[in-house]
Amino acid sequence: MRHLLDIDDFSTEEIRALIQSAEDIIDHPDRYAHTCAGKKLATLFFEASTRTRLSFEAAMYELGGQVLGFSMATASSTVKGESCADTIRTVGCYADIIAMRHPLAGAPLVASRASTVPIINAGDGGHNHPTQTLADLLTIYREFGRLDGLTVGLCGDLKFGRTVHSLITAMSRYPGTRFVLISPAELQLPGYVRKDVLDRDGIPYTEVRTIEEAIDSLDILYMTRVQGERFADPAEYERLKDCYILDEKRLSQAREGLRVLHPLPRVNEISVGVDSDPRACYFKQVLNGKYIRMALILKLLAEAGQDDPRPQPALRYDLTCDNPVCITSSEQGIRHAFLKKGSVYRCVYCERSYHGTKPL
Ligand code: ASP
Repeated sequence: MRHLLDIDDFSTEEIRALIQSAEDIIDHPDRYAHTCAGKKLATLFFEASTRTRLSFEAAMYELGGQVLGFSMATASSTVKGESCADTIRTVGCYADIIAMRHPLAGAPLVASRASTVPIINAGDGGHNHPTQTLADLLTIYREFGRLDGLTVGLCGDLKFGRTVHSLITAMSRYPGTRFVLISPAELQLPGYVRKDVLDRDGIPYTEVRTIEEAIDSLDILYMTRVQGERFADPAEYERLKDCYILDEKRLSQAREGLRVLHPLPRVNEISVGVDSDPRACYFKQVLNGKYIRMALILKLLAEAGQDDPRPQPALRYDLTCDNPVCITSSEQGIRHAFLKKGSVYRCVYCERSYHGTKPL
């Protein structure tokens, strides 16, 4: 069955078609008002959300479908010790498609194996967030009329920022993309994005420590929140939380054509004074998120009977993942599995490289 767990689950052509479908929905909402009549979307949010959950729900209502679900893990049988796989098996009896968010990386992959209906990853820990990337791509396309040849600055928490990981993976496909990575040393991009995407594909990127060093060279400035909930050490979060603030003074150094994006929620990293600047696009991004999720629901429901056409890669099952925020750390009955990428083995759930002592 087709699922959306990682943005790489969709080809460039499929992403183009989704953008086109979202634009048609924007232009002709009435034509879509009943397309999901009789269908149900379950939104299973084991972690907090405003935009992603509500945009999925609004999307399904605007398609004429219905919605059920929960908005926090404590409102589900997770608190009684139920596994993610069992929750998904259960909800598949009630819904035609599931959008889920979970604090542990790889939970949607586990869910997809247990599921009889399409699974959409609405964010898994600090790992991936492919539907935010679809919203970002629609926004970029509507602002620039293209996805290629753009210089994209990504600022803030590039380590735990799942939206950043998925966006880099997607934008790396388009010719002429360049990245400027703006982060403190402690919040640099993880290896599975840097090595497996940027280095593997020879994508040009530079790394700087301040917004000022880069802002006048950018087409897009993608700001992110430093995410308190992902830090093991609260003191480190306190030290880093306000490391970047985009204010009117800094924005005055940017090109007229710059577009400022942010997956939201914003804390202090963009001053509210920036909101009225025509270059600020983050609230347009919110609205685009609803339309692209409408297009996504339509696509996955239409393809629910199809098998994933991609060949299954060879995996190693004799290694163990030691990442405490990987789904393998808490879910019973998961067989640890590793995939060789370049010279390292990566856990298929969280993509952390193998750190153990077994000979490789
Ligand atoms: N809303 C985004 C996410 O779920 C960004 C954030 O939470 O800071 O990853």
